[in-house]
Amino acid sequence: MATSIDPGLLVQLKKYGVKDAATCFNCGNCTAVCALSTEATPFPRKVIRYLQIGAADKLLHSPEPWLCYYCGECSETCPRDANPGEVMMGLRRYLTARYDRFGISRLFYTSTVFEIFAILFIAALVGLGFYAFHGPIITGRVALNQFAASHVIELLDLAMLAVLSFFLLTNARFMARAILGDPNHYQREGIQWNGIPLGIYLGELKVLLSHFLTQKKFKGCGSKEQRRQWIAHLLIMSGYSIIFILVVVFLRWFQHDGILPIWNPVRLLGYYATFALLYGTTYAFWGRLRKTKTVYKYSHSSDWAFLILLWLTTFTGILIHFAMLLEMPLATYTLYVIHMMIAIPMLVLEVPFAKWAHLLYRPLALYLLRVKERATA
Ligand code: SF4
Ligand code: SF4
Repeated sequence: MATSIDPGLLVQLKKYGVKDAATCFNCGNCTAVCALSTEATPFPRKVIRYLQIGAADKLLHSPEPWLCYYCGECSETCPRDANPGEVMMGLRRYLTARYDRFGISRLFYTSTVFEIFAILFIAALVGLGFYAFHGPIITGRVALNQFAASHVIELLDLAMLAVLSFFLLTNARFMARAILGDPNHYQREGIQWNGIPLGIYLGELKVLLSHFLTQKKFKGCGSKEQRRQWIAHLLIMSGYSIIFILVVVFLRWFQHDGILPIWNPVRLLGYYATFALLYGTTYAFWGRLRKTKTVYKYSHSSDWAFLILLWLTTFTGILIHFAMLLEMPLATYTLYVIHMMIAIPMLVLEVPFAKWAHLLYRPLALYLLRVKERATA
């Protein structure tokens, strides 16, 4: 098959954070040390070679960047300082932009000006929305559900969920087609091909679910440090998923004027999610500031945007809780608006177009590989 070559690929990828790939001389050391690389899906050397020769199509069809969990082992042993671990990270950003049919991801990752503008623009829209449509401001007691009626917020949450799911699933469908390949490919390989039976897709859904819920491949590199990172990652993911479900599906139980009893499961889940998010984001923040670990040495602007938005969302959530405990109505309403002005841009931009989408793409890549393996067997 003819491979189309894009001579400007290496330059293009610099904007996604791929800085040192040109220095790689293809010794294969990185692939040899990578505990997650297999015979069927060897990496990172192979994809680095693709980007060096400008094989953009081959990169698009490669699931390998999603199989790397960035332990940094390969970067530490690379004789050319090509930083293969960070190259894989940059490729995940690049692929996220390639899967995105709406072009937002590309703008978000390649232009810091757009990134800041998009965050501020959505935040301003949310602020204006509250300014124009907030309910009565009751100052005698905390009446958050009067100020922002939970049934209205719940409806808006569900509408937002539908829109974000549409974007994310459209992009995920494109990713699936890219990884599974077109039917002609199988014919060329001499495989009799009648499409993938639905039973295989359904039968392997457990792979998707188990990897999505546990992100267990993360600890496959085996080092102590990698295990710590996996825990931080799992805390962020579980904390965020719990808050997301509480806010989008169970808001009328979660958003209360009074404080729920300490043993109430909704309050306990809220505490767990807050702790998990605060610990996970602070761990990553500290790591990126200190830069002592290989995986935190380089930070793309989108890494900072993600962490700052997530940390501030958590922190303002805690402040709202304290303002309510101290019975401070005006502080509660003000903090609530600020909280929404941070949380909503993060959701709108990060879930379908940036870092949160990775949470789906990683297990999806593993699932698609399993489906492909069974279908071609
Ligand atoms: S990235 Fe480094 S270790 Fe990997 S093939 Fe290139 S030079 Fe060798
Ligand atoms: S960062 Fe770790 S998982 Fe990723 S390619 Fe390098 S050694 Fe493998």
